[in-house]
Amino acid sequence: MPGGASLTNPEPGRAGDAPRALETRAVHPPAPPPQDGSPVAPVLVTSSTYRFADAEAFAAASDAKVGSGYVYARWASPTVDAFEAAVADLEGSAGAAAFASGMGAISALVLALCSAGDRVVATRQLYGNTHSLLTGRLARYGIRADLADVGDDPGIAELLPGARLLLCETIGNPAIEVADLPRLAALAAGAGVPLVVDNTFASPVLCRPLEHGARAVVHSATKFLGGHHDLLGGVVCADSETLAAVRGVQRDLGATLAPFNAWLALRGMSTLPLRVERSSATALEVARRLEAHPRVTSVRYPALESSPSRRLAMSLLGGRGGGTLAFELRGDRLRTRSFQDRLRLIEPAASLGGTHSLLVHAASVTHTQLSGAELAAAGISETFCRLSIGLESPEDLIADLEQALTAEAPHA
Ligand code: PLP
Repeated sequence: MPGGASLTNPEPGRAGDAPRALETRAVHPPAPPPQDGSPVAPVLVTSSTYRFADAEAFAAASDAKVGSGYVYARWASPTVDAFEAAVADLEGSAGAAAFASGMGAISALVLALCSAGDRVVATRQLYGNTHSLLTGRLARYGIRADLADVGDDPGIAELLPGARLLLCETIGNPAIEVADLPRLAALAAGAGVPLVVDNTFASPVLCRPLEHGARAVVHSATKFLGGHHDLLGGVVCADSETLAAVRGVQRDLGATLAPFNAWLALRGMSTLPLRVERSSATALEVARRLEAHPRVTSVRYPALESSPSRRLAMSLLGGRGGGTLAFELRGDRLRTRSFQDRLRLIEPAASLGGTHSLLVHAASVTHTQLSGAELAAAGISETFCRLSIGLESPEDLIADLEQALTAEAPHA
């Protein structure tokens, strides 16, 4: 490990030093002798600061332009670096920068690419806080956003000239529409605008947007990458020039990923392909059963034969649809909530991409930031539910949904 980082916290005292008091020895214990063999599992290094062999090495490492090695954990640290390298490898990017949350990653990337007076174009099918970041918060700092529907090529093309970036989600939250990444990349390239893709719902197992012309990829690592509902994290994958700008924002704003969360995410990533394949297969079974149910008025899932996104699911997602689906019920908001209350296995909780199946009523949980008109424009009705499929058996999930739907049948 560069910068003198060590697993054993070596005693920095030198031979011939005077004997030290107990208080000093409590802070500087002796290091155990080095052993052969290195750990197979990722190493968790929690140190917030790093010591150097001498003042010159310390100064060199602290000079951001010249230095290499670890100085202070808001800038870089070994376990976070290992997580960044793992995600960059799967996404096929030159590197990655990890953040305390997905929103930390998205806001740092937008701030790295934009200044006051700049304009961003984004597809309308976005996670609620990404929507409020772009259309509300950043406007206060002079960065404007224009939105267009993900399939509205002429509308997007018209907005692009002069914009600083085009942002979309591979599979939009929550309407589960697949973005035509090669087409969006071509439109963006035609206007000289970088395409930035939030790949949270697809994960690099289903889609690697850089292969389709994106300049940068962001993730909420809280979702599939972590995969166990036990961490918050985010990551930006990009070329070195973009990453240098992103890291500059990160140093100043400070939304760095904690080493323990990086360690959890690394552990989660070792099973990412298995989890994504399994939840995709289960989601397709569940989607088919819901589609056939009389209380369900619509089901959105890209791998369904009836889905408008099916062609893109075949060409961009390898025929898989991911672990998240959405559906609407007969009735109103109240009836939808009572359906949710009758579920016994599927839990009422936000988030997605983890071991547990979770259901949210989008208008009251994930998209509360949107006005009634914005909800309608994003295709989110009063009865719209987003279901994130976990690793439970498909039969048990279907049985849970059916009992909750059937219980209300007499009133439907
Ligand atoms: N992007 C998408 C597509 C999301 O669904 C979310 C959260 O649900 C985020 C970004 C934000 O991630 P985080 O909650 O880790 O900040």
